[in-house]
Amino acid sequence: MNRIYIAFDVTIEQLPQALRGAAALGFAGVNLTVPHKQVALRVVRDLSAEARLLGAANCIVPRKGGLFGDNTDARGLERDLRDQGVRIAGKTAILIGAGGAAGAAALTLMRMRARRIVVVNRTMARARAMVRRLAKSAGGAAAFEVLSLDAIGDRDLIAEAALVVNATPLGLGGGNFPPLQYPAARPDCMFYDLIYAKRPTPFLAPAIKLGLPASDGAGMLLHQGVLAFRLFNGVGAPVEVMRQALLERLGRA
Ligand code: NAP
Repeated sequence: MNRIYIAFDVTIEQLPQALRGAAALGFAGVNLTVPHKQVALRVVRDLSAEARLLGAANCIVPRKGGLFGDNTDARGLERDLRDQGVRIAGKTAILIGAGGAAGAAALTLMRMRARRIVVVNRTMARARAMVRRLAKSAGGAAAFEVLSLDAIGDRDLIAEAALVVNATPLGLGGGNFPPLQYPAARPDCMFYDLIYAKRPTPFLAPAIKLGLPASDGAGMLLHQGVLAFRLFNGVGAPVEVMRQALLERLGRA
């Protein structure tokens, strides 16, 4: 395919102009990252149900009559978890964080039919607002619960979980992750960090040391990109080529 995928450094103020310019220049599509995912909703009116529900769009596609916005984060995460054999139907999942990425992760946990989804976040009001929006709009049967960040130190809570997802930048730079009771986890409990890096993140390292299943967010990044590729190009993506390129870039190939 005679196409290129390149990065642009665009300020929040420039975003409306940049998106309209991309359409005028005949771009097949645009990916957005933080904080533009949320800000784009002020400019893009035609949204998928998922982008509307999450209040964020990571893919923008110029279409006749305007721009269309979609969000592939939740489906990307679901695909990666399923590929890794994670099954949480009827079980308990813990989600750390309540920002944009956490919203997508919460939607994934609902779709994978977790019975109990415990959201822990520094700002509990933000977590409650996220849960309210999702529970109402998605009509899921999952029971959400919001707890303070300290709850990850609760052995009984960790012991019940089939999956613990970190959707915060906590631990980046090696510092101050509240004490998580890894040794209390079931042997098949998966620890999943949305952050991706060359080496195991501080959130994952203790789980790996104990031989517990652990994964960073590289697979989520890959699969949200695979879905974006189809949206932009109208054909399926070369998944393995993309996986290889990503792992090389992360220094893990
Ligand atoms: P965000 O909207 O800014 O949310 C950040 C979250 O982290 C909030 O829950 C925030 O809590 C919490 N937090 C930040 N600093 C904290 C601190 N010092 N102590 C306690 N809590 C803190 O960011 P986001 O867009 O959700 O992104 C979160 C992470 O996911 C990033 O590391 C990003 O790289 C990653 N991500 C990965 C993928 C992928 O494809 N793998 C996709 C999207 C995002 P408060 O609510 O209290 O502020």
